Amino acid sequence: MIIITYRRHVRFALVLTFLATLVQAATSPSTASWRVGTGREIITPPAGVWMTGYAARTHPADGTAQELWVKALAFADPGGKRGVLITLDLCGITREITARVCAQLEKKHQLPRAAVMINVSHTHCSPWLEGSIIGLRILPADGLAKANAYRRDLEQKIVRAADYALSHLVPATIAWGEDSASFGVNRRENPEKEMPARRAAGTLSGPSDPRVPVLAVHNASGALTALLVSYACHNTTLSFYQWHGDYAGCAQAELEKRHPGATVLFALGCGADINPNPRGTVELAEQHGLALADAADRALGRPMTQIQGKFSAAAEEITLTYARRPSNEQILEAQQKEQPNREMHQAWAAAMNDQIKTHGEIPLTHAYPIQAWRLGNLAWAALGGEVVVDYALRLRAENQGPLWVFGYSNDVMAYIPSERVLAEGRYEGDTSMIPYGRPGPWSAGLEEKIVKKSHELLDRTQTR
Ligand SMILES: [Zn+2]
Repeated sequence: MIIITYRRHVRFALVLTFLATLVQAATSPSTASWRVGTGREIITPPAGVWMTGYAARTHPADGTAQELWVKALAFADPGGKRGVLITLDLCGITREITARVCAQLEKKHQLPRAAVMINVSHTHCSPWLEGSIIGLRILPADGLAKANAYRRDLEQKIVRAADYALSHLVPATIAWGEDSASFGVNRRENPEKEMPARRAAGTLSGPSDPRVPVLAVHNASGALTALLVSYACHNTTLSFYQWHGDYAGCAQAELEKRHPGATVLFALGCGADINPNPRGTVELAEQHGLALADAADRALGRPMTQIQGKFSAAAEEITLTYARRPSNEQILEAQQKEQPNREMHQAWAAAMNDQIKTHGEIPLTHAYPIQAWRLGNLAWAALGGEVVVDYALRLRAENQGPLWVFGYSNDVMAYIPSERVLAEGRYEGDTSMIPYGRPGPWSAGLEEKIVKKSHELLDRTQTR
């Protein structure tokens, strides 16, 4: 009896040792030897700053319902090659801001441009930024001065958050998984009023991307220290006059509550033609945030794929072209015609006249940023602008191996329609160029250019 008990104990102990070895193999930094650091700062603007997102804003924000954040996730692969992902609870970002931030990080940390990725959540309850979407710059001179001061302060905070993350790299394991959420609905194919009934009947139409990619970072003690969650859906549950991160802010806050000590980041996918549904209240933003947090936790609860191997990055700007210049009559009409959102049309006309004054004629080319990262066998593509869902679906289908596609990265200069959406026109394919202060719709052929360069950059990261 004693012998049997003893043997049972030994067997039990052996099983325990075996299990412990397995757990260690899964989490030990010595087997992975990646290092990760995080940084964060509150970027909620001071009083008097104007909001963005909607053309009908008539006064500055009048309070804070939820803090806005910049968060940074920096890492170094086993060979010491580093990258930093920066996420922002902002509606947009400009090429100029990104360039200045990257220049500072290059100077201080010798990080090449391709190793810095900036993604915004596109919350519309965030500040209008100097140099961004021109048609929403309907604010008085003191509003403009405050916006410019905010922009300068913001750049310092972005650099500080990234700097802190890069200066505090500690051994970690990185793993990824995926789940799904269904509150994002194709807004071009389903009238908003009909969405609930269509959802109930299972008759929602148009493409969407329900995937919720999740990247989890554990430290040497096995504690969750960072979590990156992505989803492809406009972050526009809310349209009031309070600063708020919308559903993406709620998901981050909820997951940070559930996982104390973890920095939770949100990166927006290709959700330009996808809207949350239903929407309109803080409760609904919280409801969608919970749905996203639940999806992330489901992914965390299942075995995840550990990232091993190297980090590599590639980035380039390609030239996109606009289909046509507006005529003088069109510019004059935008200045004078009584129409809804008249100030927005006037701002567009002023932007066109400025360009004529500066360049002699309105330039028809635009530098468009594309970035590719590879973390071990997981590939990321980050595209500028408000990218429609077709790009993520196509790039994933054409890519060999797992690929996450982010939109709203490095520069949000306009909508980026697919060839299908461009041909169909309407807001995402055509008329959104007015608030964005662009001369007209993109020329046909942009999808092929963007997809081709994305594949090229992804291939390049494979051979580095
Ligand atoms: Zn948008």
